Amino acid sequence: MVNDGLGETDARACPWCGSRATRRVARGYTGPTDEVDQYFTCSACGKVTYELVAKTAREMRLGRYQAGDIYQDRAHQTRYQITRILKVGANEFLMYLRPMPGKSEAIGVV
Ligand SMILES: [Zn+2]
Repeated sequence: MVNDGLGETDARACPWCGSRATRRVARGYTGPTDEVDQYFTCSACGKVTYELVAKTAREMRLGRYQAGDIYQDRAHQTRYQITRILKVGANEFLMYLRPMPGKSEAIGVV
């Protein structure tokens, strides 16, 4: 059995539906894709779960992102908590996200 560190070897449960039919896409600058985000996709519900999202300095300013805030992925109608923000370049930030499955009952609670 060959583990190349990619794909299914790091399978985890989809936070939105619980399926383990997930596939991880790692962030890479020079790989076969030039993904700037890191996420996994779920073939059961079709949703994308972000682990890392890259933002430019401008996007950070406009979004006013801060650790502990809620990050909404409108395209997939999912929510995350921003666990950490890391500056990785002159004009790039990485946001670490933790999925927040469930409906919006927690919004507004501080
Ligand atoms: Zn799923």
